[in-house]
Amino acid sequence: MNKRIFLSSPHMSGSELGYIKEVFESNYIAPLGEFVNRFEDSIKSYTGAKNALALNSGTAAIHLALRVLGVGAGDDVLASTFTFIGSINAILYQGANPVFIDSDLESWNLSPKLLNKYLLECDKKPKALIVTHLYGMSADIEKIAEICRSHGVYLIEDAAESLGATYNGKHTGTFGDFGIYSFNGNKILTTSGGGMLVSPNEEWINKARFYSTQAKEPFVHYEHEEYGYNYRMSNVLAAIGVGQMEVIEERIAKKRQIFEWYKEFLGNIEEISFMPELPNSRGNRWLTALTFAKTDYREVMQALEGINVESRPLWKPMHMQPLFKEAKRLVDGTSEKLFAKGLCLASSTTMNRDDVKMVADEIRKVISKA
Ligand SMILES: *Cc1c(COP(=O)(O)O)cnc(C)c1O
Repeated sequence: MNKRIFLSSPHMSGSELGYIKEVFESNYIAPLGEFVNRFEDSIKSYTGAKNALALNSGTAAIHLALRVLGVGAGDDVLASTFTFIGSINAILYQGANPVFIDSDLESWNLSPKLLNKYLLECDKKPKALIVTHLYGMSADIEKIAEICRSHGVYLIEDAAESLGATYNGKHTGTFGDFGIYSFNGNKILTTSGGGMLVSPNEEWINKARFYSTQAKEPFVHYEHEEYGYNYRMSNVLAAIGVGQMEVIEERIAKKRQIFEWYKEFLGNIEEISFMPELPNSRGNRWLTALTFAKTDYREVMQALEGINVESRPLWKPMHMQPLFKEAKRLVDGTSEKLFAKGLCLASSTTMNRDDVKMVADEIRKVISKA
């Protein structure tokens, strides 16, 4: 049996251990230190974000964004329904109510049309929108940002999966009031766990930094006027992040190559549609995602499992989750249909052309049997 092929396995650059050694030699085994600053600087210079704050998860980054923006109990917060729960949980931490907006087929991401419709017709104005750039592909973000601006709704970009993806040359995560990135184990870069909050607003990032380190007022004794969190990134993990950032463009090139290989081997099958890439955008193709018009994706999953290859259904839309059965929504069936038909294929940057061909051949077998 071949070695298991994962959806997206960690892939170190080679410099990480050396940097960790530097951290150990300095003894800054702490959530502060040189590498935390270096990691933040590398994200700023790569994405063009003005301010950055390294945190222990992407979820923490979203939570701090909502807290700094003053989102609280009873507020409505709009969000992509076609996303991972990590995008939504922080809304609940703040006692606010998520309102789910469906995707469009042009991007599989949040529909600007439905967003605008909701904002024109709603009785209660939402405070913010959290828009996800799913599977590393940019949402129609310029339009979405414009709609948020014209309705006075804060924009938070969940770019957890889309580090390095751009729209009109500008990085996802830098269009909104806040953007967040994740460095969890299977993201395009990983620090084993971690996140980054970015914003054009320096004051907000300073406030988020304050909250992320237990909200200590500037006294030598610890004085507290507000409550905070323990959300800062460790200097050890930031050292991994600095090593990972050295290869971000290489990783994106490889992810995009894997997608091209899948297209080469499967593109002529009529019932298969790949997740689209919007004109003027560059996705990072974190995971190659596709739908089958006829074949049951569960049979494909099972067959791939038989050759020790991981695959995963598309995210189950949030408005379909039992947790959110009461939540407000504006949906038109798009994400439900995608969920019913779709699969994410193994897209680890350690894969070569033969690995991709093996996966594609197995998929062909299932389709021709049906
Ligand atoms: C991974 C992910 C998150 C959460 O990031 P963590 O670092 O795991 O907390 C949020 N949103 C999306 C879309 C994600 O894929």
